Amino acid sequence: MINVSKLKEGIVIDHIRAGHGYKIFQQLGLDRLDDVVVLMRNVDSEKMGKKDLIKIESNLDLNLEVLGLIDPHVTINYVKNGERVNKVSLTPPQTVTGILTCKNPRCITNHERITDVKFHLVDAHTNQYACEYCDVRTRL
Ligand SMILES: [Zn+2]
Repeated sequence: MINVSKLKEGIVIDHIRAGHGYKIFQQLGLDRLDDVVVLMRNVDSEKMGKKDLIKIESNLDLNLEVLGLIDPHVTINYVKNGERVNKVSLTPPQTVTGILTCKNPRCITNHERITDVKFHLVDAHTNQYACEYCDVRTRL
């Protein structure tokens, strides 16, 4: 049994909604990281029932925009010398560019090579974004 509870140096992404951990793992490109990364799923949580958790033994620059987009309710803890030094809460970004793709099969962005499509936040509660070209709502 590996002891993953003691992290000396790195980042803990906590309070991830159960089932979202892998998505965050992929979107942040953690599978391409050479450092130790632990994804824990369905951890018991008093507040949430079950939650996912990611521990990264590295001080990489997290893409907070991507994180806020997937799940703005996660908390990020930076750990130094075994102590939590910094806690960050997220808000969903108002606009995101080049991360989302439009779900509308008739949307021009799915037929022409348009990169960097911009999406605007239309519902912060459900984290829904509208395509700048066709207004169809999507979420990551
Ligand atoms: Zn569209």
